[in-house]
Amino acid sequence: MAATAKLSEAIETRLFINGEFRSSSDNKTFEVIYPFTKEPVANVHEATTEDVNSAVAAAHAAFPAWRDLGVSERGAYLHKLSSLIRESNDELAKLETLCTGRPVSQYFDAGLAADNFRYFAETAWSTQGTASFNTPGFLNMTVRQPYGVAALIIAWNFPLALFAAKVAPALAAGNTVVLKSSEKAPLTSLYVAKLVAKAGFPPGVVNVISGFGLPTGDAMASHKLVRCLSFTGSTLTGQKIQAAAAKSNLKHTHMELGGKSPAIVFEDADLEAAAAATQLSIKFNSGQVCVANSRVYVHESVAKRFTQLFLEKVVAGKMGDPLDPTTTHGPQIDVLQYNRVKEYLSIGQKDGTCTQGGDANDGFFVHPTVFESVPEDSRLMREEIFGPVVAINTFKTEEEAIEMANNTEFGLYASVFTKDMDRAIRLAKLIESGVVAVNCSSPSGTKDGAFGGVKMSGNGREGYLYGLDEYLETKTVLVKT
Ligand code: NAD
Repeated sequence: MAATAKLSEAIETRLFINGEFRSSSDNKTFEVIYPFTKEPVANVHEATTEDVNSAVAAAHAAFPAWRDLGVSERGAYLHKLSSLIRESNDELAKLETLCTGRPVSQYFDAGLAADNFRYFAETAWSTQGTASFNTPGFLNMTVRQPYGVAALIIAWNFPLALFAAKVAPALAAGNTVVLKSSEKAPLTSLYVAKLVAKAGFPPGVVNVISGFGLPTGDAMASHKLVRCLSFTGSTLTGQKIQAAAAKSNLKHTHMELGGKSPAIVFEDADLEAAAAATQLSIKFNSGQVCVANSRVYVHESVAKRFTQLFLEKVVAGKMGDPLDPTTTHGPQIDVLQYNRVKEYLSIGQKDGTCTQGGDANDGFFVHPTVFESVPEDSRLMREEIFGPVVAINTFKTEEEAIEMANNTEFGLYASVFTKDMDRAIRLAKLIESGVVAVNCSSPSGTKDGAFGGVKMSGNGREGYLYGLDEYLETKTVLVKT
């Protein structure tokens, strides 16, 4: 508890509204728990509806001046923030681990977030529209403008990376923002709010609040002055938010939601590499990753060899204290998530054959678990587990593999392992997914691709030039000549 108290003194736990830190309007706080010790590490202020109104009002007031600053001047602030985030890597890694239990050894997020701010600082130059004299007697100009106040609501599993993926393009495009972090992992967002103040952003341009879905998140989704809402979280919450957004003022929404990602391993694949990539994907962040390949489909002729390699590799690593740099496998974030994963372990035991793991211990730890021969209609194959639990099934033909991969309501990320590039391209076309990775799986990936889902994994895109689109609306200016 001594370490806990020290941390609370060192970090900011209040709300960042209109350029200053202030207490919740009713002084209500909630605890952030370190999943490994189950000890509270901080008491964080919870934003009330009144606080949401203040944050939105501040963002609304700051919008015209921020919009009119111009790309270069806005970019200068983003560059400053990028440098400050990069310099704070170690503090951010620790805070994020204390909130989520992800091992510090897996921390890459400050570098990624810094790159995002730098990238969008420059990329906002490409937000031009088009112009034409194609209609005689008219100059027709189509321009792109920021929405105004953007509300940003994020999940807990990669708090800083999600913060940057939304805040950087929203600001670069000229919007002002109100960001709500997850109630499970608010500390890195608050830390970055301090960096926002240090970078000298004008008051109201960036507002960072903490709180739960109700009332805080819902008040943001329902706010009439919010014109654009970007959300990362579960499909169920996304549906509620989209409904609230539609009911209040039909604000533009962008949804980054859940997944049930398939990996297809063909008979000609490099089986060693395919096993290494797919087992890492389901283990990274203890499986609490939207793109984790939780369904692996292997051609029946190589299933035995592939599964043997997978089982050998999946047990490697060290489970333990996430702050220990040699640890590779941390706990589930909390008791809810832990119980949820345990329920799927029971379903797997009943519906299929468990060939590795299958057990959990009282520290919220779940051993990497492999099930085989699970029927396709089992809940284990259809629902997002968000834990280190994978099902390996077999297929006979390419058509069958595609059908199995697409037999889901989700469509976020899919992997194909084969040496036959014609086949890889055929599958890339036919698989219903926002990302199709060939001969690799998450968490590897480039930084310059669009990211997002189809079907119930969401709509809209994050990253690269496409990320800016979510924060710009299109206007036609017609001039009679
Ligand atoms: P969640 O849906 O429970 O919560 C996400 C955020 O929504 C939190 O900030 C929460 O406070 C807020 N919220 C909850 N109810 C709300 C409401 N009624 N109105 C407004 N806001 C509300 O999700 P989670 O448990 O934090 O995150 C895990 C989920 O996120 C998984 O489904 C995972 O796949 C998904 N995810 C998706 C991506 C992606 O890019 N597609 C990335 C990371 C996580």
